[in-house]
Amino acid sequence: MSVISTVIEKVKRIDPDQKDFHQAVTEVMESLEPTEDRHPEFVKAGIYERIVEPERVVLFRVPWADDKGNVQVNRGFRVQFNNAIGPFKGGIRFHSSVNLSIIKFLGFEQIFKNALTTLPMGGAKGGSDFDPKGKSDGEVMRFCQAFMRELFRHIGAEVDVPAGDIGVGAREIGYMYGYYKKIQNEHTGVLTGKALEYGGSLVRPEATGYGAVYFAAEMLATRGLDFKNKTVAVSGSGNVAQYTIEKVNQLGGKVVTVCDSSATIIDEEGINKEKCCYIQELKNVHRGRIKEYAGEYACECFEGLTVWDVIKEQGIKIDIAIPAATQNEISGENAQALVNNGCYCVAEGANMPSTPEAIRIFHDNNVLFGPGKAANAGGVATSGLEMCQNSMKLSWTREEVDNRLLLIMKNLHKTCMDASEAYGKKGDYVTGANIAGFTKVAKAMLAYGIV
Ligand code: NDP
Repeated sequence: MSVISTVIEKVKRIDPDQKDFHQAVTEVMESLEPTEDRHPEFVKAGIYERIVEPERVVLFRVPWADDKGNVQVNRGFRVQFNNAIGPFKGGIRFHSSVNLSIIKFLGFEQIFKNALTTLPMGGAKGGSDFDPKGKSDGEVMRFCQAFMRELFRHIGAEVDVPAGDIGVGAREIGYMYGYYKKIQNEHTGVLTGKALEYGGSLVRPEATGYGAVYFAAEMLATRGLDFKNKTVAVSGSGNVAQYTIEKVNQLGGKVVTVCDSSATIIDEEGINKEKCCYIQELKNVHRGRIKEYAGEYACECFEGLTVWDVIKEQGIKIDIAIPAATQNEISGENAQALVNNGCYCVAEGANMPSTPEAIRIFHDNNVLFGPGKAANAGGVATSGLEMCQNSMKLSWTREEVDNRLLLIMKNLHKTCMDASEAYGKKGDYVTGANIAGFTKVAKAMLAYGIV
């Protein structure tokens, strides 16, 4: 049995209920098989065994009072997975589905994603089973403050720098940062995704969506293609989806789908700039539901179905897919339907949105497939740029940050391509991203000895 098979088997045995974590570990570890022979020093130093075990897991009680004065209790998590190449770094997710398995899978993925950005950031993730949907601003504020009341002692600008993720946007970051500043009495770059007025970076809100489109454009260019006049399916309607749509429009493509957890919209005429602004206002200001879009623009709304189910059932022709909602949203059946409907490029804006079966189908059908840890790395890369600006106590212009983001995504694409070729799997971005990210972290871990 190879070292890697033993590691996967052990991860499944010792935490049998952590299915999302098993999925992420299996996907990464299996693609690292060729590194075992090439780097016997990694095997000898126990790097494979060590990298699947978080440096530290913090699980805490978050008590807060709702608007009626009733006490509510949620669970808080921070998984500090690996800080070999820089301070822990990774977002915070507020969603009712959050549990330790999900936070561990996200933190594990973050190690390799952050390494790929070329910036010095380790991997971490945090969150809570609190769902901001349907809560008043006052309730969200009191929850964020209660969450930070414990988290503050585990983070710091040189220790661990959280950011946003599902359910954590500008409003939540503001409340958490304000409370951190109050109780620590210091104004420091301890969170990213901050608003401009108090240390945020231009282009950080746009970065994950823009970055995913930049990565997709690089993949398309390897086949002499681009976004012009292409039909694009996007899922979600939150931060990543909104700026994915914006950038696709700028590059001449047409996005025809959008969704939230209740409904999917099909707009065959395309979600143009005006409609995209409507979605931003609907979701970020009014905190409404996406089905309201169908009323506003008289188009089809499918309640209770995902974008990928609707594409399958309606046989909608798609060139490019950018899933930007959540994990495991594209099943094997969905992937087969995408291929049947003409899709030849998938860039994962979300983390692990494609099931292992879906990924296999994309590979078998020669679909350009950019895994999340590469395709959505623009968000954390720009968080890294926010940290740089905070350290230097200055702000770069929009052009400066956007140019750096574009360059990072181009380099990241090349890094994945080069690594896939070096290991005999040219064009396999999953293998390329995993090996390139892992090798960097493994070398740093090796240098430290057994710590
Ligand atoms: P948001 O909370 O802003 O938006 C999430 C969107 O996905 C919402 O429209 C939400 O609908 C929808 N959604 C969530 N769960 C489901 C579900 N089970 N089924 C259908 N739709 C669902 O989050 P982000 O846009 O920030 O994050 C989206 C994805 O991108 C996540 O996988 C995240 O980890 C990943 N990501 C985000 C980064 C960032 O910078 N924000 C960076 C890198 C990756 P509803 O409103 O109904 O819940």
